[in-house]
Amino acid sequence: MSTGKKKLSLAFWIFLALIVGSLLGWGLIYVPGGAAFATKFIKPIGTIFVNLFKFIVVPIVLFSMVCGMISMKDIKKVGSIGWKTMVYYICTTIVALIIGLVLANLFKGGFPQLSTEGLGTWDKATSTDFMTTLVDIFPSNIIAPFANSSMLQIIVIALLIGAGIILAGEKGKPVADLFESLNEVFMHILMFIIKVSPIGVFCMMTWVVSTQGPEILGDLAKVLGVAYLGYILHAIITYSITVKSMAGLSPFKFFKGMFPAMAFAFSTTSSVATLPINKECAVNLGASEEISSFVLPLGATINMDGTAIYMAVNTIFLASCYGMQLTLGQMVTVIITATLASIGTAGVSGAGVIMLAMVLTSVGIPVEGILLIYGIDRLFDMGRTTINIVGDAACAVIVSKLEAKKEAKKAAMVK
Ligand code: ASP
Repeated sequence: MSTGKKKLSLAFWIFLALIVGSLLGWGLIYVPGGAAFATKFIKPIGTIFVNLFKFIVVPIVLFSMVCGMISMKDIKKVGSIGWKTMVYYICTTIVALIIGLVLANLFKGGFPQLSTEGLGTWDKATSTDFMTTLVDIFPSNIIAPFANSSMLQIIVIALLIGAGIILAGEKGKPVADLFESLNEVFMHILMFIIKVSPIGVFCMMTWVVSTQGPEILGDLAKVLGVAYLGYILHAIITYSITVKSMAGLSPFKFFKGMFPAMAFAFSTTSSVATLPINKECAVNLGASEEISSFVLPLGATINMDGTAIYMAVNTIFLASCYGMQLTLGQMVTVIITATLASIGTAGVSGAGVIMLAMVLTSVGIPVEGILLIYGIDRLFDMGRTTINIVGDAACAVIVSKLEAKKEAKKAAMVK
């Protein structure tokens, strides 16, 4: 897509934006009215960039998924990639939950006992019925999913169009050409947006640091620390091991290559907005274009390991605030509901906290407890989104490698 030199400079500019934005935000804490200034004038510019990514993501997912499928030419190959992806996503989410639960139980003695008396009511959606979520995956008309950016429905539409084009054979060729041409056009628009993305990172970091200075942390620093420990351990243990053993890629190289996408996810807290940069990073690390076009949008929508860790840690924390001890059986319930809740979490800022309500309800913890952590949710979200997108890229790299090995084996057998 672009040259090595350009990629390096993108990583550099994003890094610089992250550091300078944080420092400026920190400085603004000490200037009277600084945080208000950042909220009024700097954040909106960051929002423009996040919006641009949100705008581009729908056509990019649709066109690149359809083109990815067309280039596989074979429905069986799509199925083979699909099941490998799902197995990786579900297994790593369960490992993430186990890491989160073990850490939270280990450190819960040090968690603050916040008073739950007089907490208001949590009025956001408190539970999502699994069957409703399932039904909602399938679109009932072709316009609404695009108007509402319903990613799962758009993925289903892309899969159906891709399959239709493959099955139509010669007659489907003009439509295939149209999609390929549209894909090319939108890729160019995307490259332009990616080039200016460091400005977005700078603005978001300035705003976050100036408004969420150290004192907002208060008693919750320990809970946040345990969640971040979980994020880091999951990255080091789960992703490093799987990337090394299944794709033969050095973890150091993997994380270095992932840096631009990680910095972008950290500052924007949206997996969906990070999707284009994530794809660029994954392809640079050796993932195939077609496989990434398939695996990454799916991951940005359903694979949320960071969100799973966040849910595990906060469930244990809020249980302790309500004086509850979760039994082993209840922990298993947490694993099951949090896996489903993380699948149902949209890849946008702050979605995880809404789905946390579903996990709390499943083990009888009052959902109002969420109000205790809501003030610093953005800080949890920065880390969890970063982990969410790294998990997607690790899967794209691994599945690409496994498919390449399979193809090589087939070719050797033909000879
Ligand atoms: N912000 C997260 C993401 O986009 C979702 C969440 O809130 O947990 O991946």
